[in-house]
Amino acid sequence: MLQDVYALTPATARLDPISRLPDRVQFAVDLEKLACQHPGQPRTLVLVDALDMAWAHGMTLAMGLAPFEDIIRCITSRLHEQLDGVAQVYHIGVKRFGFVLAATGDDFPAFIEGLVDSLRKPILLDSLPIRPTVRAGSVDFALNTEAVGDVLRKAMYAGELALRAGLRWAPFDPVRDAAYRRAFYLVADIAEALADGQLSLRFQPRFAIADGAQVSAEVLLRWQHPRLGAVSPAEFIPVLERNGMIHEVTRWVIDSALVRLAQWQGQTFGQLSINLSPMDFDGHDVSGTLRRLCHAHGIDPQRLEVEITEGEWLRSNPRVLGELAQIRALGIDVAIDDFGSGYSNFSYLHEIPANVVKLDQSMVTGIEGNPRYQKIARSILSLARELGYRTVAEGVETFRCLQMIREFGCDEAQGYFFAKPMDEGQFLAWSESGVFPLAQ
Ligand code: C2E
Ligand code: MG
Ligand code: MG
Repeated sequence: MLQDVYALTPATARLDPISRLPDRVQFAVDLEKLACQHPGQPRTLVLVDALDMAWAHGMTLAMGLAPFEDIIRCITSRLHEQLDGVAQVYHIGVKRFGFVLAATGDDFPAFIEGLVDSLRKPILLDSLPIRPTVRAGSVDFALNTEAVGDVLRKAMYAGELALRAGLRWAPFDPVRDAAYRRAFYLVADIAEALADGQLSLRFQPRFAIADGAQVSAEVLLRWQHPRLGAVSPAEFIPVLERNGMIHEVTRWVIDSALVRLAQWQGQTFGQLSINLSPMDFDGHDVSGTLRRLCHAHGIDPQRLEVEITEGEWLRSNPRVLGELAQIRALGIDVAIDDFGSGYSNFSYLHEIPANVVKLDQSMVTGIEGNPRYQKIARSILSLARELGYRTVAEGVETFRCLQMIREFGCDEAQGYFFAKPMDEGQFLAWSESGVFPLAQ
């Protein structure tokens, strides 16, 4: 099944000083040579990661560099044993080894798992049996079509997938790789987006169901990325949250919304509702930011609402509850967004200093044809009302849906049936015209 791909001339090879294996530079030279000899032919690169990064770091802190080098030498000799006559092994990085196979068949998974198992056998260091946390990643590629760096990157990403899944080995996954890289670039590009005006706000009006009056508008963020085009907040907000980059964005949204409110003084459309992320509360004084910015722009805090998604994070974090109480004390409304999705839980609702509940779209859109969701929506709305919350249904797309939530006693509604999120100009024109479908 497996064949030796190319033999190296040890006398001229660049060798790693610890393993005495040819190094990454030599790997690149050899791969290019091979690509000239067999252009377009398929190959598989396997990267073996001898130790988890955190574990290796902890071990060198505790035991010094010598045992680490012992492990590297031991793994090297095990690789020699296993791959003798099969493939040339390279020392690609500090603790990474690589080899190229010319043809892999159905027995490749069993081969690679067997290899990892053999490399994981305990190594005695200072009479301590150490089990190296070996993992591998592989990628199939065509010689000469891809740069060496990219092939290595893909094999490294495959190793990362193995680590995340707790597997011995994983193959490269182009779909996950594309998503990972896109998320990485979104994080890398956000500072420039803020500075270059790539972010903008949209406004989606909300109406009182009783008389059709526009009571507020939700502020929704948009990103026009120069390379990727329009990127949805449903994609980039979670990415920025995961990478601790949301604070700057939220501050920008609050500031920009308040600038608009200050410019629109005299308009009577009511409040602006701003979405906050759970991560905004992470070590940040959100209520202080809101207070300071309202003061700086001369805005009455009662013209603001913040929307937060209820969840485990909120209940288990007394500091966040304190922050929300302070936000309420400023006179800002606090709405629980997407209620009825995920872990929403009525028994904890009273602990959250909120005064508005927004029923999740999944309980609203298409409710006309779903008796089960009708029952759920009816119960949530009536319980929320009894507990003293103002209730909002979002995702209202049809008149029939509006009729239903009206029957269920909902106070306010938002959705495509009334208006989609609009840019500032459209929104102001729309609000001034006073044409609210409900009032007709
Ligand atoms: P959300 O806060 O629940 O906002 C409602 C979303 O539903 C918006 O999507 C809105 O455009 C969409 N929508 C409104 N009416 C309808 C309807 O009738 N049918 C359907 N199918 N959809 C409707 P959008 O603008 O793509 O935002 C998605 C999510 O991104 C928001 O959900 C919110 O969680 C987040 N987001 C948006 N802007 C911000 C922001 O400035 N800060 C933070 N932290 N999150 C934001
Ligand atoms: Mg919202
Ligand atoms: Mg929502």
